Amino acid sequence: MVYFVGAGPGAEDLITVRGLRLLGAADVVIYAGSLVNPGLLKETKEGCRIYNSAFMTLEEVIRVIVDAERKGEMTVRLHTGDPSLYGAVREQMDELEKESIAYEVCPGVSSFCAAAAALNMEYTLPGVSQSVVITRMAGRTPVPERESIAAFAAHRASMVIFLSAGMVKELSRELIKGGYEPDTPAAIVYKATWPEEKQVVCTLRTLEEAAREHKITKTALIIVGHGVCHDSYDRSKLYDPGFSTEYRKRKE
Ligand code: SAH
Repeated sequence: MVYFVGAGPGAEDLITVRGLRLLGAADVVIYAGSLVNPGLLKETKEGCRIYNSAFMTLEEVIRVIVDAERKGEMTVRLHTGDPSLYGAVREQMDELEKESIAYEVCPGVSSFCAAAAALNMEYTLPGVSQSVVITRMAGRTPVPERESIAAFAAHRASMVIFLSAGMVKELSRELIKGGYEPDTPAAIVYKATWPEEKQVVCTLRTLEEAAREHKITKTALIIVGHGVCHDSYDRSKLYDPGFSTEYRKRKE
């Protein structure tokens, strides 16, 4: 059996209870060494074989899993944040299916949740935005043209941009080109929940300068939208005394 486990954004105690149990039971752990906190590896049992996938190809990862399966062992494939976002998990699942190896996913706390926590931010503020766009600038992995930063910016929804901290100049240009005002609030959250976490609040106009000043070029998220500064928004209906809900009568 193989478990794809979300390790969370960085802090060791932000893996789920289930993820921690699986990690403790694994005979083999293959972890994404570039971003998974190596401190989590001390949760593995004695004799557990540990591999860092940063040095491995897809084929090598699959070979390790297939060998473990032949011995009747359990493998944890430990991914940063939640495996469903930029985790390259589908290609592994397809290879496992070819080998008739069963697998399951244990979700994790994504870094976009950790970044909101760091900023005390709500992405879906009433009267501001009710949507979150999760995207990235094109890098070695291309982004379909219909999903360009400018195309998403036209919605002026909350945006979280992954894998793009080294391209903030082009990023802010595209966001403004697409429809955000240059003074739209933005934030850079570097290594959310790690001891070296940094958060910088700025605007689209000052994004590049802010990244340069704080020497942030990787392992960061860029958050865009008025939710970052929350200076004006509407009260929720859910907790409004004038509204009834399934659980609570309205108060006159
Ligand atoms: N599956 C992961 C994302 C992997 S892609 C998740 O759910 O978070 C790697 C990118 O995620 C990094 O380049 C960076 O943009 C972002 N990232 C991962 N961990 C982060 C953290 N602790 N703080 C800020 N950004 C992070």
